[in-house]
Amino acid sequence: MASNNELIASRAEAVIPGGLLSPSRRLGSPIAFARADGPYLYDADGTRYTDYHCAFGANVLGHRNPAISRAIARVGESLDLVGAGVLELEVEVAELLVKAIPCADQVAFCSSGSEATYHALRLARAYTGRKQIIKFQGGYHGWHDYVAMNGQSSRQMIDAFDPMSDGILYDAARYTKILPYNDATAVEEYIRANPGEVAAVIIEPIAHNMGAVVAQNQFLRDLRRITSENGVILIFDEVITGFRHALGGYQSIVGITPDLATFGKAATSGYPIGLVAGRRDIMERVGRTGEGAVFMGGTFNGTPSSMAAVKATVQELSKPGVYDRLFDFGSYLRKQIDEIIARHGIRAQTAGFGSVWLVYFFEGEFKEYADLLRNDNELDMRFRRALITGRQIFQPLQLKRLYLSLSHDQTVLDDTLELIDATMADLAR
Ligand code: PLP
Repeated sequence: MASNNELIASRAEAVIPGGLLSPSRRLGSPIAFARADGPYLYDADGTRYTDYHCAFGANVLGHRNPAISRAIARVGESLDLVGAGVLELEVEVAELLVKAIPCADQVAFCSSGSEATYHALRLARAYTGRKQIIKFQGGYHGWHDYVAMNGQSSRQMIDAFDPMSDGILYDAARYTKILPYNDATAVEEYIRANPGEVAAVIIEPIAHNMGAVVAQNQFLRDLRRITSENGVILIFDEVITGFRHALGGYQSIVGITPDLATFGKAATSGYPIGLVAGRRDIMERVGRTGEGAVFMGGTFNGTPSSMAAVKATVQELSKPGVYDRLFDFGSYLRKQIDEIIARHGIRAQTAGFGSVWLVYFFEGEFKEYADLLRNDNELDMRFRRALITGRQIFQPLQLKRLYLSLSHDQTVLDDTLELIDATMADLAR
């Protein structure tokens, strides 16, 4: 007899393209989730899984954190979507964010990270009157035509157009120059060779879409200098790093302030959100009407449930010791896995920052996408599949980052470590 998981998956196949709301949600076998609680997910047959996917990182507090659930319920007693005028709740949230995020004189809300990067790039183009943008190979900034290319390509593709989807307009994408991460010389040379052309450099300050490639501090300092000297807008895409590593994003850790920054995901710990934060003279274009105005529409911008979730998330993340805990548990997990790797003699290493982690199946240094092509993808996939079979939620895609939430405690991690130990022993055979 078919299980509930199989029955739901086959109904999904009939009415939803591919049976999933995104190809990135594929787990290898049909799992229909029915309940979430702290670090755990439960499927339609009642099986429990430990969640290291954390909704692509959006879930930082743990599933159904009581403070978030209460905030959502409470706002629902007085408000739903209004879409006119201003709400005091929006102002309160913006005030909290302006206080927390170094680059933020003002913030504007939308509903996803992709919308935030789209708006930030449009804003940079409007402000500078230029067309070209620079992104880095391996980076992901959302699904829109300006940036959805040259992510996890099968080889280093600096000079070739490698779209993530059919239907992407080459005419839009050709204004996006792809350069290698952590290479300031390449950025400087390109900007100098194309004077007055480059509107913006967009960068994940930790390239979590390649796993965890941390930008060298000097690289970020150089980017800040080069962009300032050449009238180029520096955009930190903090959709993953923001709120997860620090309330003010990675910019508050590294002490380098971009002109604009985009956020999403962990800002609400699980409700739709995107936001653009930045310098007043740039951001005020969004508020203008008539000449020079930058249109940032969106029926659901700042929907009260999401605003209430941001406010509650900020309050939770402001509690003493929260980031220490995320960083301590992240370090503990990586250290234990490194010991397991060494014990079994596997050519691998952990990488990560704070609560974001993964295992790279190669040895030696890495600073840009080309270095990651040394990854043994087959071993990586065997590792991931074994963990999924062991009821851990991992994305079955090589080089994909994994997460912890505040609800992943020592017991949860130790259970997973036992499984990782057994899996590595198998891989070593
Ligand atoms: N920017 C970064 C760095 C991301 O990792 C993502 C999503 O993974 C996005 C932007 C797009 O965000 P969303 O999926 O909310 O549209």
